[in-house]
Amino acid sequence: MSTSNILLPSAGAKGLQPDGRATATCFCGAVQLLLPVDGPDLIATFICNCSDDHKIHASAFASNFVVNESATVHVRGQDKLTRYAQRKTIATGNEMANYFCSICGTLMYRVSSGYTGKLIPRIGTVDDFDVQNNQLRPKIEQFAKNRMAWFKGIDGTEVHEGNFFTGA
Ligand SMILES: [Zn+2]
Ligand SMILES: [Zn+2]
Repeated sequence: MSTSNILLPSAGAKGLQPDGRATATCFCGAVQLLLPVDGPDLIATFICNCSDDHKIHASAFASNFVVNESATVHVRGQDKLTRYAQRKTIATGNEMANYFCSICGTLMYRVSSGYTGKLIPRIGTVDDFDVQNNQLRPKIEQFAKNRMAWFKGIDGTEVHEGNFFTGA
């Protein structure tokens, strides 16, 4: 476990556990999840250059992973999560719901109405830099058509021009 690079360590933070899970905590510490970061409940790891991810991360792309909700525990602060959902920007017409910490604004995960039983958390919320570096290294890049010209992508990822998951 390597949390040494996390300058605001949170109570209860856990690196990789024997069951393949680790905690993910928001910036202020109010919201904490226990998420699968290894094994069969970790479905995918990816970066995304889509328009939504520019806005909701205030950045040029997002680094995400997909997990089975059934293997996820809300350790604390579920009542602090604000849900914001819309479907205007989603090519399939699915609704994408965003769950943010209502105190510090950290986006903890997204949920698609077309992808039931799955949560899409953000790699940077996981309380273990070794896990972010290894188990969660992005294997897929999507919406490469929206990639900034000054970003060359990540070596070794499988690149998709649009949405890898829906083909849209
Ligand atoms: Zn917070
Ligand atoms: Zn995206």
